[in-house]
Amino acid sequence: MSLFILSVFSLITVVVDATLGSTHASCRNIPGDAGWPAPSAWNQLNQTLDGRLIATIPLAHVCHEPTYSGTECTNLQHAWDTPEIMIPQPAEFMASWFQNQSCTPFTDESTQCELGNYASYSINVSSPSDVVSGLAFAQEQNIRLVIKNTGHDFYGKSTGKGALSLWVHNLDSKQIIPSYNSSHYNGPAVKIGAGVSGGDAAAFASQHGYRIVAGSCPTVALAGGYTQGGGHSYLTGLYGFGADNVLEWEVVTTDGKHVVATPTQNSDLYWALSGGGGGTYGFVISMTSRVFPDGQIAISTMTFNVTTAGGVEEFWDAVKVFHTYLQPLVDDHGMVAEYLISNETLDLFGMMAPGFTRASLTQAMDPMIAALSKNVSGGLTAEKVNLTVADGDGYYNLYAAIVEPLTLQDTIPPVNGGRFVSRENMAANASAVNAALRAATANGAFTVAVTALNSEGPSRAVPAIADNAMQPAFKDAFMSVIITADWSWENSWAEAAVLQDEFINVVLPNLEAATPNAAAYNNEANWQQPEWQQNFYGSTYDRLLSIKHTYDPNGTLYGLTAVGSEAWSQDADGRLCPSGAV
Ligand SMILES: Cc1cc2nc3c(=O)[nH]c(=O)nc-3n(C[C@H](O)[C@H](O)[C@H](O)COP(=O)(O)OP(=O)(O)OC[C@H]3O[C@@H](n4cnc5c(N)ncnc54)[C@H](O)[C@@H]3O)c2cc1C
Repeated sequence: MSLFILSVFSLITVVVDATLGSTHASCRNIPGDAGWPAPSAWNQLNQTLDGRLIATIPLAHVCHEPTYSGTECTNLQHAWDTPEIMIPQPAEFMASWFQNQSCTPFTDESTQCELGNYASYSINVSSPSDVVSGLAFAQEQNIRLVIKNTGHDFYGKSTGKGALSLWVHNLDSKQIIPSYNSSHYNGPAVKIGAGVSGGDAAAFASQHGYRIVAGSCPTVALAGGYTQGGGHSYLTGLYGFGADNVLEWEVVTTDGKHVVATPTQNSDLYWALSGGGGGTYGFVISMTSRVFPDGQIAISTMTFNVTTAGGVEEFWDAVKVFHTYLQPLVDDHGMVAEYLISNETLDLFGMMAPGFTRASLTQAMDPMIAALSKNVSGGLTAEKVNLTVADGDGYYNLYAAIVEPLTLQDTIPPVNGGRFVSRENMAANASAVNAALRAATANGAFTVAVTALNSEGPSRAVPAIADNAMQPAFKDAFMSVIITADWSWENSWAEAAVLQDEFINVVLPNLEAATPNAAAYNNEANWQQPEWQQNFYGSTYDRLLSIKHTYDPNGTLYGLTAVGSEAWSQDADGRLCPSGAV
């Protein structure tokens, strides 16, 4: 059955530009513009694609007239923004700031369901030729093109008003290569389609006795924005970032060529795709990545709070002690820790210790527990912090048992931002870092999520496969911090703007002051963070921009904060237009 549903436009309202014409000859056309493709053109494209073109009907149309259904709407409200709802849908995306209430389950049923920042159509990509057709159509018709995988992007890069979206999800092949041979690597590898999630890739590698570098959130696409943007992992202390392990990218470039990029073939494209940001240089069909024999590993969890620490001052003293003793575990032993800090609680939901047993990890943590017991007036003993230590002979099983259930439902509330805390920042003024974390969470509006890691420590077992565009500042980071505004869909939408303002003008400057030169992870920050070229890409930016100009000279691929995106801006109607910048 064809999924192509032109009749959607009788069900939901499409905002039509009253001027019926774009404001600039080279702006991308949006629905209502004179240059917007006629229904016959879309029909023709759908035929070329054997029926794999899908017109967008936002999920939340069931919450709005004329298609309102009370039961379906209530169900959707409970599940809204969860990965399992968003990922199987071609045009849904998680960044609620960019959903912008155009069609959510939380506005009144009498308000119209509008497409807003949703792509207008998606191609359910099943082969490189589908991508070639989509690229050609978008270029001929001068419409916006986006690539959507899982829709996890913080900046809404996988969606766009009036866009034709290349939906990656069903490129889900997985293959073990027991002995990959090349001049830069000989050994086991995995080749995955670009739609395979990190969790699926890790489970697949594990079934064959291997580990793969994947994120702690299982639902992110491994070969999508994750590895293309760098990709931190519980295994980064041993094997580096996701981008460090790529052997091959299979790509359709914006001129429709189907190519392979390796360290020795199309090497500039390989370099840029390995860390230089998703959705920027071409459409990735598949990725081949180095894997490692699985082996012994341990994990620890613990938590303490204002009550168990004996008061607010004592709690923040304990946070400082925790960091003092965490850093050598991370720096010297390749451990990676993930934890949440609010104004009341620190929750270490997983510190992964490759090579450790339950006994050796317990012993390694003794100094931290002793210091928390002795130096904090609440006396945070192992019992009081609910210390748990477990081990196993494989990474994935331990991860799946302890971490995955906690991160499976992770999503993106409207306001988030990010910042690294470098090892230099800790050495220079750890008290200032502690004070900045305290200030960020003080009024209860924001929570801090930390990944503590060291990609360059003595436990690093292998260098990167080749030089790549990994953010240089990530290599100096002790913490990669995400600051998230606590959000309830019972809030008025105006409160999101207040939180955004507070984050950009108060919380972030405070943290920046305590973390000079530290930058921010390009995948996990806020779209309004200043000097994003420097902060998200650093010294790689100029070369990335030159590669962008080589592989996408006409700016077919645009994403907010992506390399080269300064050449475009959105007008008041959401139409993408040349900005006049280079
Ligand atoms: C809940 C949550 C948990 C996260 N956990 C981690 C983590 O543990 N470690 C970590 O490093 N990061 C993590 N991230 C950040 C994550 O890596 C980025 O959001 C990443 O961009 C998601 O990529 P995606 O392809 O899954 O998402 P999408 O939103 O679909 O795509 C992201 C970007 O990549 C592009 N893209 C996707 N597929 C392709 C393709 N085939 N070809 C070309 N471009 C493509 C898109 O166009 C877009 O620009 C997390 C994010 C969230 C929301």
